Amino acid sequence: MHFPPWTSVDDAARLLRDGLVVAIPTETVYGLAGNAYEPKALAQIFAIKERPTFDPLIVHICEISQLADVTENIPEAAYALAKAYWPGPMTMILPKKDCIPDLCTSGLPSVAVRFPSHPVAQEIIRKALVPLAAPSANLFKHVSPTTAEHVAAQLADRGLAGIVDGGPCNVGVESTIVSLVGEPTVLRPGAVTPEMIAAVVGNVKVKESTSKPGQPMAAPGQCDTHYRPQVPLFYGKLPAEFKLPERCVRIAFGDTPGVIPATLNLSETGDMLEATAKLYAYMHDLDDPRYDLILVDQIPNVGVGMALNDRLKRASIKV
Ligand code: AMP
Ligand code: MG
Repeated sequence: MHFPPWTSVDDAARLLRDGLVVAIPTETVYGLAGNAYEPKALAQIFAIKERPTFDPLIVHICEISQLADVTENIPEAAYALAKAYWPGPMTMILPKKDCIPDLCTSGLPSVAVRFPSHPVAQEIIRKALVPLAAPSANLFKHVSPTTAEHVAAQLADRGLAGIVDGGPCNVGVESTIVSLVGEPTVLRPGAVTPEMIAAVVGNVKVKESTSKPGQPMAAPGQCDTHYRPQVPLFYGKLPAEFKLPERCVRIAFGDTPGVIPATLNLSETGDMLEATAKLYAYMHDLDDPRYDLILVDQIPNVGVGMALNDRLKRASIKV
C-alpha cells in the first residue's frame, strides 16, 4: 500500500462495501467512514482514532427517505428540519432502529444522523449502498481535519484503507447536533444556529455545552479538552499580568489590534462564515513546535460565532 493511500470515489465505495474504513470529505470536516451496519467496521473506526467507545458516531445518509431506515418514531419536527437544512451541517438525534449496532451509539437507544451536502460525500454514500458511520478523521481530542492533508498527517499509517481528497471543507466546523428525543435541544452548536432551528420548530433549548474537567460528561463528546492543539492555545482577552512567551503567534479576527501583530487573520472584514471555514486549518498550521503559544482573538458569541466560541473555549488553556 502507498502512503498516504489516496483513493478515488469508486474505490472508496468498494472498500466501504468490503467493510473497510476510508476517510471522506464532507462540508463540515473530513470523516472517518465505515459501514454503519457493520460492528467490525465501527470497531476499526474507534481503534484508528483511539476514540473511547462511550463517544457515539454520527450516521451519514444521502437522502431524507433514508432517515426511516435507521430511526423510528420520527416526529414531524424532524422532517421539517430535514426539509429546511438537509443536506447540510445539521445532525439530528432520534430513536434508533435495531439495524444500528449498539457500538455505533455507545449503547444509547438513540442515533445521530446527518445528510451532508458535500457532493463527493453524497456520491460515496450512494455508491457504498449503506449509511456510513463517520466521526471526524482525527485522533481523539485533536483538532478536526479540514483538508485531506490534515487527515494524512494524522492517520495515514494507522490502518485506514483510503483517503478521498475533496478539497478544503467549506463549513469547517463540526455539525450542529439537535436532539429530537423529547423537546428539541441543541447539544452542540454549529453552522445551523439555534435561531435557525427555532424558526422551523418553534422553541429550541440549548444545552450548556462544557463539562468540568474531572467530572463525567453530560453528553458524549463534550469533554472540556476536545479540539486541543499540541502547542498551548489561549482564547480571549489575556489578563494584564500575563507574561507572553518568546515565540508567540496570533490568530486575529477582523481589524482589532492585539498584544502582538496578527500572524494569520480569520477574516479581515469580520465575516463569521469565512472565519469558521478557516479556524481549524489555522490551528493546524500554527500547531508547530517552533511556537510556544497561539493567541486567538475574541469572536462575538452570536450565530455561527457560538460554534467557534464553543470549540475555542475547549481548545484554550486556562490561565
Ligand atoms: P463527531 O463524530 O466527532 O463529530 O462527534 C459526534 C458527536 O455526536 C458525539 O461526540 C456526541 O456528542 C454526539 N452524539 C452522537 N450520537 C449521539 C446520541 N445518540 N445522543 C447524543 N449525542 C450523540
Ligand atoms: Mg470529532
